[in-house]
Amino acid sequence: MSTTTASEYTPALQSKLPAVGTTIFTVMSTLASEKGAVNLGQGFPDFNCDPLLVGAVTDAMTRGLNQYPPMTGVPVLREAVAAKLQKLHGRSYDAGREITITAGATQAIITAILAVVHPGDEVIVLEPCYDSYVPNIELAGGVALRVPLIPGTFRPDFDRIASAITSKTRAILINSPHNPSATVWSREDMLRLQDILAPTEVLLISDEVYEHMVFDAAQGRVHESAARFPGLAARAFIVSSFGKTYHVTGWKVGYVAAPAALTAEFRKVHQFNVFTVNTPVQYGLATYMADASPYLELPAFYQRKRDLFRAGLANTRFKLLPSEGSYFQCVDISEVSDLGEADFCKWLTIEIGVAAIPLSAFYGNGFDQRVVRFCFAKKDETLNMALSRLAKL
Ligand code: PMP
Ligand code: GLN
Repeated sequence: MSTTTASEYTPALQSKLPAVGTTIFTVMSTLASEKGAVNLGQGFPDFNCDPLLVGAVTDAMTRGLNQYPPMTGVPVLREAVAAKLQKLHGRSYDAGREITITAGATQAIITAILAVVHPGDEVIVLEPCYDSYVPNIELAGGVALRVPLIPGTFRPDFDRIASAITSKTRAILINSPHNPSATVWSREDMLRLQDILAPTEVLLISDEVYEHMVFDAAQGRVHESAARFPGLAARAFIVSSFGKTYHVTGWKVGYVAAPAALTAEFRKVHQFNVFTVNTPVQYGLATYMADASPYLELPAFYQRKRDLFRAGLANTRFKLLPSEGSYFQCVDISEVSDLGEADFCKWLTIEIGVAAIPLSAFYGNGFDQRVVRFCFAKKDETLNMALSRLAKL
């Protein structure tokens, strides 16, 4: 018998992301479920997806499509994505060399960043921005350059964007429809960005996960994908997520469309950080995509929920910001409470029974403008329950 015993020792490590804790989405969802609050915080639907989609995935599993798919995604799904981009935006992507299926948009974004950002490169992000962008850039050894969207309107400030570009700028990340502000970039915005980037080597990562949730088409608003602008598309990784479009956020499947030269580098990283993506879900999505109506009908579906929610909030002292796209509604809380955003969201969850997300979570410096975000991707009864609780405010 050995006389020595190994001591249990876990070596100390130096965090690669020292400033990062648990994401606000997890924090608020946990608090909401502990307190039995209506969870309008984290963005996900509380209703089920179309049974036809579940049937299509089940069918693929039953047919034995359960082993590794091709590294780049199953051809039928890549072809369906290319056909959709052609139909909606008039740009032809080669399904073989320019479309890659990813494990959600989160993996798509970090993979694009790891593929192109070298240590010391700068990447421009427009704040407030989705919480994975900056840590992704830092993991790649890059430096995030935060350019604020215009306070109050959350519109892009193109003068500041243009002056943020230096010889070190590798890429800019944009997101329309925008999480968290629910603003949508116009054609003029995209043309302006195209002009600014034209003389540069700057790549574009265009996060378009809410592409099928743009409202008020009657007023001429449409999703202006980077795919519509040749000067942008030629330098862009366009990222989307089936989770948002088809009410299956937990399936974690998305795609990236990018010119062949960019896709080739993307796939070098993709093959080693995920390799492949869930096979039966890919086949099921491909079958389901043969019918365009689910995504074509999505704006009307969510616009009705937005309007129901806004009509209810109009009876409170919250000041409603516009919701042009996405499934978010931001409100100014200054007439309702003296608390800062984060404390207000905790108070609202615990005392009123409705969870929300503070916008400060989308800023590196925790900027507090007294605005919080609600998600209205919920059953009408959930929205009505939340509204009846919020009516007290
Ligand atoms: N970008 C934005 C702006 C998002 O809101 C989300 C949703 N969490 C993602 C990326 C990530 O999408 P996915 O769940 O497909 O990884
Ligand atoms: N996109 C969703 C949101 O912004 C959820 C993100 C997450 O849970 N990481 O709320």
